[in-house]
Amino acid sequence: MRILIVEDEIKVCHFIERGLKEHGITVDTALDGHEGYVLAETGDYDCIILDIMLPKLDGYEVVKRLREKKIKTPVIFLTAKDAVEDRVQGLELGADDYLVKPFAFSELLARVRARVRRERNQEVNKYQIGDLMIDVAKRVVTRSGQKIDLTPREFSLLQYLAEKQSEVVTRTMISEHVWGYHFDSMSNVIDVHMTNLRKKVDLPDCKPLIHTLRGIGYVLEHRS
Ligand code: CA
Repeated sequence: MRILIVEDEIKVCHFIERGLKEHGITVDTALDGHEGYVLAETGDYDCIILDIMLPKLDGYEVVKRLREKKIKTPVIFLTAKDAVEDRVQGLELGADDYLVKPFAFSELLARVRARVRRERNQEVNKYQIGDLMIDVAKRVVTRSGQKIDLTPREFSLLQYLAEKQSEVVTRTMISEHVWGYHFDSMSNVIDVHMTNLRKKVDLPDCKPLIHTLRGIGYVLEHRS
């Protein structure tokens, strides 16, 4: 899952960012409405957490412009305003939900998950690729019934490959979805993590599931 936070209060922004990352969610942040709009327009996010009172472009304007461009990424407004008319205005402009500050992080996380689940119709909680099983909710990975211990980053990487099962996943896609927008996809960090993931998933006596397309990217696929 990949989330964009647009919030000019740095402390609030970091608080949300840290919380989401602890749950294995990839996060990008923007500190003003303009930067937020640019990221939202170009990035492929599952949900946008959007403050209303923002420098350069307020939250209402960001949503309005996104919806005008037919970008339908779910938006959850964060607002200190709790007047009914403000909520109505936000929802009428195309926001999907709102949360009044101050809020509990657990509440925000629940709203984000509910929104993303609704968007995907049903959140995929389990993947099976050959004898590889990934239980996203429990964060458990097994191969032929044997548990595989992965770091949080390796898990995110494998989950992303599983979401795109049998499709080519490029380094740029990986860097954006697993590390976030500001990550340099040319660094060798992706290769290092991929090598480690592979050692754990594709054991010597197992049929390889992670395939490399030289110079392009990777595919997670069971090939008979
Ligand atoms: Ca603000």
